[in-house]
Formats: sequence, C-alpha cells, structure tokens
Amino acid sequence: MKVNGGCFCDRVLRKNDSHHLTKGPRVAENMLKFIDTEQAYPEKRPPDLRKEDFEEIYREYILKKAAEQSSRCSQCGVPFCQTGCPLENNIPDWLRLAAEGRLREAYEVSAETNPAPEICGRICPQDRLCEGSCVIERSGHGAVTIGSVEKFLTDTAWREGWVRPIAPKFEREQTVGVIGSGPAALACAEKMRIAGYGVTVYERADRAGGLLTYGIPGFKLEKDTVMRRIRRLEASGVEFKLECEIGRDITFKALREKHDAIYIAIGVYKARRLKMPGAREDSIISATHFLVASNRKGFKDAVPDYESGHLNAAGKRVVVVGGGDTAMDCVRTAVRQGALSVTCLYRRDRDNMPGSSKETRHAEEEGVKFEWLSAPKALTHNADGSIKSLAAVKMRLAAPDMSGRRAPEAVADSEYFIEADMVIEALGYDPEDAPALFDAPELKISEYGTIITDETGETALPGVFAGGDIVRGASLAVWALRDGRDVAPHMRAYLRRQAESLMKEITE
Ligand code: FAD
Ligand code: SF4
Ligand code: SF4
Repeated sequence: MKVNGGCFCDRVLRKNDSHHLTKGPRVAENMLKFIDTEQAYPEKRPPDLRKEDFEEIYREYILKKAAEQSSRCSQCGVPFCQTGCPLENNIPDWLRLAAEGRLREAYEVSAETNPAPEICGRICPQDRLCEGSCVIERSGHGAVTIGSVEKFLTDTAWREGWVRPIAPKFEREQTVGVIGSGPAALACAEKMRIAGYGVTVYERADRAGGLLTYGIPGFKLEKDTVMRRIRRLEASGVEFKLECEIGRDITFKALREKHDAIYIAIGVYKARRLKMPGAREDSIISATHFLVASNRKGFKDAVPDYESGHLNAAGKRVVVVGGGDTAMDCVRTAVRQGALSVTCLYRRDRDNMPGSSKETRHAEEEGVKFEWLSAPKALTHNADGSIKSLAAVKMRLAAPDMSGRRAPEAVADSEYFIEADMVIEALGYDPEDAPALFDAPELKISEYGTIITDETGETALPGVFAGGDIVRGASLAVWALRDGRDVAPHMRAYLRRQAESLMKEITE
C-alpha cells in the first residue's frame, strides 16, 4: 500500500515536506546502504599532530563520502534519530537529499529547524542524541554519521554563499531586547529578526557567542565558525551592544521600558567550588578562568594571568577534578598548552560520567590519564604557596538509591597522593541570583536558582521570556538553540496582543 504521495512511510504529509516527494522505488536505489557501506566518520588528525594546536580534530568530508554515508540511512517511517534530536530535525529528509547530491536543498531542509547546524554538527554529543537513537546503531551496524553530514552540508552552504543575511519582508516598530549572546540568545534574535522586529542583543563580554566563544575550546569548535554566525546577524540588522551588563551598565527596569519584549538568556556561571582542607581560592584554578584565558589567547588577546604562567599549564603536572564536558575540555586544553602530565580525577566510574564518551576517548588518545572512582581529599602547598600535591581517596559506588543512581562512597584507608603543580576544578555551574542581579524580586526562580517560565517560555513578568541554561540549568548548546527558536512564536503572539490593545486604546 502506498500512502503520502507515493511514499511507503507513515509520516504525516506536511506542506513543503520533501520527504514524501521522491520516496518509493528511488529510496531502495539511493538509500539503505548500511549493510554494504561501513560507517565512516571524517578522518581524525593523529593525536601527536592535534596536540600541537587548537584546531578542530576532524578533517572535512569530501562530497562523495558525505553522500555515501548519507545513503546508509534506511529512511525509517518512524525516525528515532529525529526523536533523539532536541531540535527534532528532519534528518531522514536531508540525508536522502545529500545522498542524491542535492546539497543546497539538503542544507535548506536542515536550516529550517536548526539555527546553527554546523555548530551542532561539531559539538552535539551525537552518541547520546540523534546517532545514539539511530536504528542502524541499535541493530549493530554503526549509526548513520548524522552530525558529520550536518556539518558538511552547512559548511558547504557557507562556502557556496547560500547562507545569506536575513531580509525581513517588512519592518515592525516593536523591538526586542535580548540579554546574553549565547546559543539561546542568537536563536531567538534570528527568529525575531526574520519576523521583522528590531532586535538588540546586550552582552557583558567583549565578544558575542557566550560559551560557544569563550567556553568551548577551538579543537571542538573553531571560533571563525561562531563569529561568522554573529556577523550574519549583524548584517541582518541585529544590533550587538557588547561590554554591556544588564543590572550594572543598564538597569533591567530601563531595558523593559526601552523594549516591547525581553528575552533573558544569561547562562549559568557560578562555579561549584572544591571544599576540602587546603583548598585556597588563590591556588585552585576555576575551569572558567582557565578556558576563557586559553580561548582569549586563540583570539591573540593579551592575558596577563596566562602570560605570568598562572593560567598556563606548560611544563606543569596538572590535575583536573570533574567528569563532565568542562573537565574534558580542561584536560585537553592542558595537553595542548604543553603540560608535563595531565590527570583527570572523577569520583564515579567511566560508565557513570556525565561527559560524552567520545570526548573521553579523544582525551585518552591525547595522553590524559583517568583516575576513576577517586575523589580529592586535601591540598598541600610548598612554603612559597605553590601547590605541592593533592591527597585523594578511592571511592566505590553504593547500591542504587531511590532515584536509581549509585552514590559514590569513600573506601576506608585508601588515601593516596598525586604530585601536582596545577589543580583545576571543573565541578559544574549554578545560576547567578537573577532577581538580585536585575533588581527584580518578582522574577520567580526555582530551588536551584533557575528562572521559572511557563510552557511558552514567559517568566512571572509579563513580556519577559527566558531560555537556555538559566532556565534548564547547565545543559547543552542544542537545547539552548531549541529554547531560543521555540520562544519566538510566543513572543510574537505577545507582541501582537500588545500592539492590538494599544491600537484599541487609541481608537476608543
Ligand atoms: P551561554 O552560552 O552561557 O551565554 C550566556 C551569555 O550571557 C554569556 O555570553 C554571558 O556573558 C551573558 N550574560 C550573562 N549575564 C549577563 C548580563 N547580566 N548582561 C549581559 N550579558 C550577560 N554543550 C554542547 O552542546 N556541546 C559541548 O561540547 C559543550 N561543551 C561545553 C564546554 C564547556 C567548557 C562548557 C562550560 C559548556 C559546554 N557546553 C556544551 C554547554 C553549552 O555551552 C551551554 O549549554 C550553552 O552555551 C548554553 O547557552 P545559553 O545561551 O543558555 O548561555
Ligand atoms: Fe544530531 Fe545535534 Fe544535529 Fe540534532 S542538532 S541532528 S542532535 S547533531
Ligand atoms: Fe536514518 Fe537512522 Fe534516522 Fe532511521 S534512525 S531515518 S536509519 S538516520
């Protein structure tokens, strides 16, 4: 039985949905090649070479390879890859178009749902999202390399000039103020600009991009890739006010008076600190300071704390405490700075670490030593105040608690010492106190300090919306992009209601 315009699948037929247009016999011809064609990611640069610089570690697909890998997709009627993607990208559609060499159409389908496909293709933990959900992965043939194809398509689009500045069909009088310039903010700014609103982005740092610019290192995401997205928004008429902190340089109240709607996307920046004897703020280095300094050096900025050696791992025995993405970025940055040795200390085991297993593998290839089931216990210093060693204790995982998670507990008499010159803490982040920062006690927050919104993304303050990490807690760029994308229709509805009630007032 054929349904949906000749397609055998059971997907709902939507307007402009290219998925159904060329299905049927051609699917078998171009696709389903996963048995004969092996999974192949783009080539990885050898560890010895990549340790020498901060460039991305994967080389590019060539067109033939991208098409070949796309053709492994079996065009599932119910695509689990799409369910596994926070943006619910139409993955089978653009894989089929890529397999047919119809790159521009493939890019356009991918860009319909994703405000930054080339960034997601680089930094999404695909093994936990789209590729981890791919049926081919589950059947043991190795997932379709979705992220790498997505990156290839949009990198090609940039090269070919298919990514153009936004040209709104008409200009509206109402304006939106966006606080922060990370992925949530950029996605919201883009969607509101497409709808013709005036958009101003306020960013406290000297460059836009949030953690894409100053958190995530270049070997995962080269900075030109982020900067060209920002330049495109500027060319689209989005205004960026940098080094402008809301709550300090401009009050939140003044911002609300200036704009018709506000989007808060300020991320989470309060670093969790190590608490143990000898843990001194002047000797333990926070992951943020370390990574920001390194990223600034990538921009060729002067960074006195790096130049002095304080934030530079060169020639040092480095210990990083933590097991998330931030910890992986710190260990791999330390390797590239020329550390003598790099050890990662994590209190659970490999299977229970929060970071992407792909990143852990990269770190191991680059020479990082992992001390699983180990927790720091005390820090000792030399007479001159420099770090001497870190005392650690072995852990074991207890029986699962009510939530099913196995809590780590210390093993008696298992203390040991690790010689160290530099200790970096990468234990995660909590939100700053947004109501205090903005002098807006009406802004409701959760017990974790995250801003509470309703299902439309609106906060307790009318016309003030929020998204990204400040609502979810520390999360992923792709979730922030989704928040920024999905808030736009609700902001537009709010602004329409405002305009209508103003019009009514005038005419009555
Ligand atoms: P952010 O990107 O944090 O941006 C918030 C912006 O708001 C910042 O630029 C900040 O300066 C600005 N701001 C804050 N307060 C104010 C104010 N009062 N006025 C003006 N501006 C303000 N995710 C992935 O998907 N893959 C990864 O590989 C990955 N690696 C990561 C590595 C590190 C080291 C870290 C820390 C995070 C990583 N993440 C990764 C998570 C991801 O970066 C975040 O989830 C995402 O950036 C959150 O986006 P956001 O827009 O909410 O906030
Ligand atoms: Fe996969 Fe991320 Fe792309 Fe979604 S956005 S398809 S999760 S790489
Ligand atoms: Fe293709 Fe895998 Fe998605 Fe199925 S789950 S449509 S095979 S990418």
